Amino acid sequence: KNVRLPFLGVGKSCLLLQFTDKRFQPVHDLTIGVEFGARMVNIDGKQIKLQIWDTAGQESFRSITRSYYRGAAGALLVYDITRRETFNHLTSWLEDARQHSSSNMVIMLIGNKSDLESRRDVKREEGEAFAREHGLIFMETSAKTACNVEEVLLGKE
Ligand code: GDP
Ligand code: MG
Repeated sequence: KNVRLPFLGVGKSCLLLQFTDKRFQPVHDLTIGVEFGARMVNIDGKQIKLQIWDTAGQESFRSITRSYYRGAAGALLVYDITRRETFNHLTSWLEDARQHSSSNMVIMLIGNKSDLESRRDVKREEGEAFAREHGLIFMETSAKTACNVEEVLLGKE
């Protein structure tokens, strides 16, 4: 199995596992369709249940993905900082998210695998510029070391 499609392997399933379980599991089955995770978080003294959907990204699932934008408070657009093609692929996803969500949905741009600095292929500044241009919140994360994962979850910059 060596599929190198731009939406695969950026670390979405690993991020979801860090969100919900605070652990890293290096090998995940390919996400088919949509996976779901949830965690209780305390925000301003209130217990809130965060529900997170991890979508596969395959073209054939796009219509399903679209239905999840409706009613969502936020979306995470994830790329892999060691693979430029995953960064180049963002625009089409962003257009889709914007078109099928309510105008107040917050979209965060996530550059994942920040622990792999030596293999970096996309500069932090490029992520920042893309985010600024499109009005997104930007963060670099590592699902492996959990760096910034909690911050993303709680919406802290
Ligand atoms: P998905 O297809 O976007 O769901 O990607 P996965 O979560 O399945 O991760 C794909 C591969 O990248 C796996 O081999 C993970 O071990 C690896 N991976 C995911 N996140 C990170 C990270 O933050 N750092 C490193 N070094 N590897 C990661
Ligand atoms: Mg996955």
